[in-house]
Amino acid sequence: MGDDVVAQGVDPARATLLEAGGTNAVGRMLGLLGDEWTLLILQHSMWGLRRYGQFMAAIPISNAVLTSRLALLTREGLFDRHVYQHNPPRAEYRPTARSRSLWTVLLAIWDWERQWVPEHAQRLPVMRHAACGADFAPVVGCAACGEAVALRDVGAEWGPSGSWERSVPAAATRRRSEVEGGGVQSGMFPDTMAIFGNRWSSALIGAAFRGVSRFSEFEASLGAPPTLIADRLRVFQAIGVLQPVDNLGRSDWMQYRLTAKGRAFFPVVLLTLQWADRWYHAPEGPALAMTHRACGAALTAVLQCDQCERQLAGADVVVADDHPDPLMAGSEHIDAAAIEDVLMEHPDVREVAVIGAPADPAGETPVAFVVGADGLTVEALMEFVATRLPPARRPTVVELIDSLPRTSVGKVLKRDLRAPYWAGHDRSTT
Ligand SMILES: [Zn+2]
Ligand SMILES: [Zn+2]
Repeated sequence: MGDDVVAQGVDPARATLLEAGGTNAVGRMLGLLGDEWTLLILQHSMWGLRRYGQFMAAIPISNAVLTSRLALLTREGLFDRHVYQHNPPRAEYRPTARSRSLWTVLLAIWDWERQWVPEHAQRLPVMRHAACGADFAPVVGCAACGEAVALRDVGAEWGPSGSWERSVPAAATRRRSEVEGGGVQSGMFPDTMAIFGNRWSSALIGAAFRGVSRFSEFEASLGAPPTLIADRLRVFQAIGVLQPVDNLGRSDWMQYRLTAKGRAFFPVVLLTLQWADRWYHAPEGPALAMTHRACGAALTAVLQCDQCERQLAGADVVVADDHPDPLMAGSEHIDAAAIEDVLMEHPDVREVAVIGAPADPAGETPVAFVVGADGLTVEALMEFVATRLPPARRPTVVELIDSLPRTSVGKVLKRDLRAPYWAGHDRSTT
């Protein structure tokens, strides 16, 4: 059964030395992590699960698949198999430095799902930064200059072992074809699984981030059959990560661009590439050379806390699951200033104030009051924010008004804006 796996393989504390001229670090990483079962097992390991029975109870996985993935993760040096009972034999799978260093990737996945995929079948736990005590969101920062890193600031060139051919994902598991297409009903990270949960999808999203946009280019860079490319592109459009542009009537000229949701996935891509570079070494050198254009340094990405701006350490991130449905759109903290900033970017908006209005069961939803030029419509504003804010942060109501209520010194009286929404609610508000 599940505990019969044999421990063998690499020294988990050291990088794996790859064969000269063979699959590079990117291909090895995609082959290993581009698997939804592996990601789910690693996620639950980060949350403290160690034993076969615990994984079995937490993940909707078959005995055969769990057994094969635990063996694989042990062989690849991500788990240390420790026998804690001999009769009958029972083992624990302890995370090694190699798997523990994936915490940044898993945190970035969690944050992206929380921001862009609000309709989860299972509720995501809240993460708290122990150093400052706040519920936080991770921000990608540059270790050299300390500044936040945006996608447009990242330069990426092939390194000595880098090429499309050598980055093609090497299958780490011998899978039957039906497993390749996915179909896991875990509910925890539905869109991440669609993007990253199989090796061709993860390779395709990587190519999109490198600027590949045409169907024929995807086909050529990945060396994958066109039906497979077409299938993945269809999935990526369905979840709103890629959108087609410039259709000239020839399918091989069809272009696909990352949407705002797709671009927001870049921390996951960046951090997985960085993990690959750390743990898989080709004799020729790295597969990718990434730079932070803003400061010119080679990019080492770190995660920072958006609340206290300090660098996050894995041990400081704690699962704080004591909130009532805190991640549902309705109960998310309203960051009124951020929403106001976005609305003010619209050329026809003169003034704006955002408040939190009550939303079931015990949360708030953003309501925006806008003073605008003649002809400005609610629909236009909704459309405007849809491309600039993740779903959970978009105002659910926009009211166009003639002027904002202000005090004698000009301060907006948000209290007056809130009053009609909160009438009859006995919850207090700030
Ligand atoms: Zn920098
Ligand atoms: Zn903090």
